[in-house]
Amino acid sequence: MNKNPYEVLGVARDASDADIKKAYHKLVMKYHPDRNPDNKDAEEKFKEVNNAFDILKDPQKRAAYDRFGDAAFAGGNGAGAGFGGNPFGDGAFHFNMGGGAGMEDILREAMRGFGFGDFGTGGASQRASQRAGRDLLDEVVIDLRDAYFGTTHTVKFSSNVECEKCHGNGTADGSAAPVCSTCGGSGVVHARQGFFAVERPCPDCNGLGHKIDKKCSACDGTGTVHKQRTLDVKIPAGVEDGTRLRLAGQGEAGSAGAPAGDFYLDVRVRPDKRFARQGDDLIMRVDVPFTTLALGGEIEIETIDDKKLAVKVPSGTQVGEKLRVRGHGMPTRRGGFGDLYIDVAINIPTKLTDKQKKLLNEFAGTKSDKKGWF
Ligand SMILES: [Zn+2]
Ligand SMILES: [Zn+2]
Repeated sequence: MNKNPYEVLGVARDASDADIKKAYHKLVMKYHPDRNPDNKDAEEKFKEVNNAFDILKDPQKRAAYDRFGDAAFAGGNGAGAGFGGNPFGDGAFHFNMGGGAGMEDILREAMRGFGFGDFGTGGASQRASQRAGRDLLDEVVIDLRDAYFGTTHTVKFSSNVECEKCHGNGTADGSAAPVCSTCGGSGVVHARQGFFAVERPCPDCNGLGHKIDKKCSACDGTGTVHKQRTLDVKIPAGVEDGTRLRLAGQGEAGSAGAPAGDFYLDVRVRPDKRFARQGDDLIMRVDVPFTTLALGGEIEIETIDDKKLAVKVPSGTQVGEKLRVRGHGMPTRRGGFGDLYIDVAINIPTKLTDKQKKLLNEFAGTKSDKKGWF
């Protein structure tokens, strides 16, 4: 059902985590739906890449894949050689499980799955109680003008946050829960299944590592609640395409008091119709009447911050020359501004009055001593 994740990411079997992450980021950018609107192939690739990364980014999933191949992840419950059911029964794999998941799910998954953190949320998987929250990743595409002035991006999403009622402890009275005596707090017990020794979530505490007698009613003992959140991310003036902003601690809540993940926002800057950007400088193509180029004069331009500006054109300016207008580029990190370059183009009139024709003919007739103009 799934393709070999190593092949999908184009990495070797023994690739390091860093290489895997690198390959993933490259591909996920390449096939991102924002960049490939209505492209089914890209959409498919995007899913594959996310599936592959979901497996390879996680040491346990990766090990399971290395040992069992696809069987480790096939289907919902009751699958998997040697595992009683999905060993990662946490829902984090739902788009793996045979279709049905919409693009939105995938995107959300890509966002969630970005984490370097642990398995999904609320699952009875894995190590005990303390689990760091996942990192979250979102992307925004802004106009160059917004990049010039800086802007605020409001993200609405739902994620796990620490339960306020029990302070993340999951207990009815909010106190720290006593350690589970069956697993000694590790959250796992060892068992044999067929040929394999497997770690299973402690049945007594459901893998939490602690036992809660009276569960908190707000979070049902999990210590976290799913909540709609709104985050205002400030995008600084002068931001460059491809910038990744980090909001420390604004990702998903960790369980049982473990640290929260971070929130990342990837900023893409849409190409502008009028201005090309080169570092902190802007380049603008302007049609100039040929008489102005020849005789010299002034042209009026509009800068990115909507200011009208008169720019001197020296006589004899050639097409393709760049006229520098200092300080009208993008804001720089050092607090200044880059420059604006006017890329000189020519504007040849297509309709001439009789008088203009006559004058131009006269001009054409007047050969200067050296080389003629036309
Ligand atoms: Zn236990
Ligand atoms: Zn609670």
